[in-house]
Amino acid sequence: MDEVALPLHGGCFCGGVRYRVAGAPLMAHVCHCHLCQKRSGSAFSVMVLVRTEDLTVEGALRTSRRTTGRGREVDDSACPDCGAYLLACAPSAAEYTTLRAGTLDDASWVNPIAQVWVESAIPWAVIPGVQHADPEKFDYYALGEAWRAGAPAFR
Ligand SMILES: [Zn+2]
Ligand SMILES: [Zn+2]
Repeated sequence: MDEVALPLHGGCFCGGVRYRVAGAPLMAHVCHCHLCQKRSGSAFSVMVLVRTEDLTVEGALRTSRRTTGRGREVDDSACPDCGAYLLACAPSAAEYTTLRAGTLDDASWVNPIAQVWVESAIPWAVIPGVQHADPEKFDYYALGEAWRAGAPAFR
């Protein structure tokens, strides 16, 4: 895929929450941590990083704060009706929001640049050819740059 039209659209399972993203995403990666497995009910989650200022959400979100293993606070937001998790934002980096890729209406362009928590991955779910990143040293800037170099043009 060479070109993807902006804005991107997405939403929850029941349709009660819809969002759109007006600017180009910054990165996509995969997380194999147990929390992502639990919350998605699947093998891993796929995350797309966007600028919070590019994101418009319609409909009420249910937001809960959790503390990660690294002691960082993160606000997770879900649809209060169907429970689908849509996005996460850390108050310490509020200018960035992570979308769950499966909530996009069209996620066909999403290509992860890295995968984290591979040690807790379901073995067959480790994605061949995608670099393993240490979540302790996760470099959003370097990985974001590498991702954008191979990403489609967003217009
Ligand atoms: Zn919903
Ligand atoms: Zn995770």
